[in-house]
Amino acid sequence: MKQIVVISGKGGTGKSVLTASFATLAKNKVMVDCDVDAADLHLLLHPVIKERHQFRSGKKAVIDRKLCTGCGSCIAVCRFDAVSGGFAIDPISCEGCVLCSHICPTGAITMEENLAGEYFVSNTKYGPFVHAKLGIAEDNSGKLVAKIRQVAKEIAERDKLDYVIIDGPPGIGCPVIASLSGVDCAVVVTEPTLSGLHDAKRVIEVAGHFKVPVKLVVNKYDLNEEMTGAIENFCGDNGVTVIGKIGFDKAVVESMVAGKTIVEYCDGGIKEEIVNIWGKVAV
Ligand code: SF4
Ligand code: SF4
Repeated sequence: MKQIVVISGKGGTGKSVLTASFATLAKNKVMVDCDVDAADLHLLLHPVIKERHQFRSGKKAVIDRKLCTGCGSCIAVCRFDAVSGGFAIDPISCEGCVLCSHICPTGAITMEENLAGEYFVSNTKYGPFVHAKLGIAEDNSGKLVAKIRQVAKEIAERDKLDYVIIDGPPGIGCPVIASLSGVDCAVVVTEPTLSGLHDAKRVIEVAGHFKVPVKLVVNKYDLNEEMTGAIENFCGDNGVTVIGKIGFDKAVVESMVAGKTIVEYCDGGIKEEIVNIWGKVAV
C-alpha cells in the first residue's frame, strides 16, 4: 500500500482538483481530506456519511456554580481573560492551562475533555473517503489530521487497498507536517507566479526534512511560461522531478460547477495530461 499526499504550500493552486482526479483514476484506494480547517474535496466526491465520530483533544476549564463562592481568584489568575464576571468560562478563550483549577479554594473548577471537531468515514462512488471538520477556533488540526490518516490507513490495510490518496492542507504548519509524515510520495502543485515558487520551495523544504520524495506539477503553466521555466530550473537544481504541466483550461471551473472531477468532465487535453501525471505518481 502506497500513501500519496498532494500539497501546495498555499491554497487555490488546483490541489483538490488534482486529488479528485487521482480519486477517479486510481483503482483500489481510500481518499483522505486533510484540509480539516476548510475541507472542500467532498464537493467533488459527494460522500454519503457512513460513520460520524467525535474528536476530543485538550481540556477546557468548567466551573461548578454550586461550589463557587465568587471569590474571584480565577478571574485574577487567568491570563487569557477566559473567566467572565459572572464566573463562567468562555471555552473559546480558555487555553486549558489548568491554573484556575489549582487556585480555586473550593474545588469548583474541573478540567473537561474538549470536543475539538468531528471526523467521518463515508462512501463515495470512487471508494471510501475519510474527512473531518475542526470546531470553530480550535487549534488541534495537526492531531485531527493524524487521526484521520490513521483511520484511512486502517481501512486500506483491512480492505487490502493499493493507495491512500491524501489531499493535504495549505501552508507549512502542523497539519501539513502531519499530512506528510510517513508518506511514500508528495505531489507538490504550484502555479507559475513568484509567490507560487516561494511557497513550493518552502513545502519542498519541509518534505525534504522528513525525507519524503517530491514530484512537482505546474498548474496553469501557460499563464507565465517564464516563471514556469524558473520553477523547472529550481526543481532541476534541487533533485525534484517535474511530472507534469497543466495548461489553463476553463473546463476546470465548468467541471466544478457540474460537480464532477475534471477527468470525468472532459476528454483530451487536460484530461490526458492528468492521466499522464497519475501514471508517474502511481509507479
Ligand atoms: S476561584 Fe473558584 S470559588 Fe473563586 S470565583 Fe473562581 S470558581 Fe468561584
Ligand atoms: S484553564 Fe487557564 S486559560 Fe482556562 S480559564 Fe483556567 S486559567 Fe484561564
